[in-house]
Amino acid sequence: IPALVWLRRDLRCHDHAALHAALTRFDRVHCAFVFDTDILDALPSRQDRRVEFIHVSVLQLHQALADLAHASGVPGGGLIVRHGAALAQVVALARRLGVQEVLASRDYEPAARERDRRVAEALAAHGIAFSLHKDQVLLECDEVLTGQGRPYSVFTPYKRAWLHRLDAFQLRAYPVERHARRLAPLPADEPPLPSLADLGFAPTNLGALPLPPGAQGAQGLLDGFARRIDDYHVARDYPARKGVSYLSVHLRFGTLSIRQAAALAHQRAAQGSEGAAVWLSELCWRDFYFMVLWHYPHVVTQSFRAQYDGVQWDDAPDLWQAWCQARTGYPLVDAALRQLHQTGYMHNRLRMVVASFLTKDLGIDWRAGERHFAEHLNDYDLAANNGGWQWAASTGCDAQPWFRIFNPVTQSQRFDPQGAFIRRYVPELARVPDRHIHFPAAMPAAALQACGVRLGEDYPHPVVDHARARERTLMRFHFLQRDG
Ligand code: FAD
Repeated sequence: IPALVWLRRDLRCHDHAALHAALTRFDRVHCAFVFDTDILDALPSRQDRRVEFIHVSVLQLHQALADLAHASGVPGGGLIVRHGAALAQVVALARRLGVQEVLASRDYEPAARERDRRVAEALAAHGIAFSLHKDQVLLECDEVLTGQGRPYSVFTPYKRAWLHRLDAFQLRAYPVERHARRLAPLPADEPPLPSLADLGFAPTNLGALPLPPGAQGAQGLLDGFARRIDDYHVARDYPARKGVSYLSVHLRFGTLSIRQAAALAHQRAAQGSEGAAVWLSELCWRDFYFMVLWHYPHVVTQSFRAQYDGVQWDDAPDLWQAWCQARTGYPLVDAALRQLHQTGYMHNRLRMVVASFLTKDLGIDWRAGERHFAEHLNDYDLAANNGGWQWAASTGCDAQPWFRIFNPVTQSQRFDPQGAFIRRYVPELARVPDRHIHFPAAMPAAALQACGVRLGEDYPHPVVDHARARERTLMRFHFLQRDG
């Protein structure tokens, strides 16, 4: 009896829950990926690092599946790839292959849930079952609830309960290799895999970035990080240092198994590694935001707490443009945004700084910033991005309190003390001394000019005064005090 595994954001063929379920329950298992035009057509640019990342990862996965099947005596294996609307493609393929069931990994985003509901309905009309399997997260949906059976809205007790449940069973890999003889060969008339150009996209600078795609790329990054994980807690806040894992894009597209990543951290933390324990905590934040999105899908467009929808954000097109163009006059903010635009990545400390700057210094609605990140981040993930933006804007679940406002200059002095990160992305300030690089506007004009910088020409004047912006923000949020 044949089955079809529909891969989406789980682009690997090892430690894979849905693939393992299919291989243990059915005797012929096809694997397919759809370049979904409902998603691709909505992208604002035809040059998108994520599409290229997925494309390279899909080519790798095709080869890995073919190798896996071949090693088990099944010639002609691989990945079936389609380009079109996912619903129609999956239903047509399932019917053509005569499968009894389509299996996929569970997705927690409201739009994806709706798509899956419709796919299930369409398949059911043809007598084909559709099943969803936990793969993207460690603990999902209702697996971590309070004693009253309700979802948590505070991270610390959630983490305590989460750690309690995260046992060896949850971290165990789903073995695929030993069942690989059940992988089906590709259909005889299967067309060759589409090129990036066939999909209507042009190459980006992805190949020049230290971000190797696919499961092989993920393994390489994980191996490298395993050698640094013990220092994570001390190095992770400094964007100029190689302190973090850079694995987010791999967790986003499932080229890395979350169980594999967490098992590494869990084991090292149990041996006393503080860095590993802190990194495991970050993976817990990831689950936390998926849980929030699952239980409170209104956060996609609204504040987690309804009273925060009363915050009156400014309509400030000039300030918005300055932020988008990385020309705010605050070097760390500008360097961070240029890192985003040039590489598709932004360090976590900097995401907090630029999100705070947009909402609390410029007074602009977090939803605008969230959209900008969604367009540019390689690792863009609705749950984490929404959670991060609502945290910084103080509107979210267990967010930064509204009266805590990052100072972009002291953040810069603390986390980029020599300005090494700033100099990398804002080269026009390269010759400004360490003491002034965090806020060159405070430097006497003649001295600044001696470093090759004329303010307003080579580098912008600060678009706002932080102290005054801070006062305005406190006023903006002040009404919340009445409500406690
Ligand atoms: P590491 O420090 O090595 O962390 C390991 C992994 O833990 C990450 O890959 C990620 O999967 C997870 N993680 C770490 N921090 C968080 C967090 N705060 N929330 C949820 N998961 C976390 N992360 C995304 O994956 N996609 C996003 O779209 C995204 N948008 C964000 C927007 C804002 C405003 C903020 C403040 C944070 C956002 N984050 C997002 C979380 C975090 O910044 C990134 O996960 C992290 O910087 C990725 O780099 P890394 O893989 O080297 O992280």
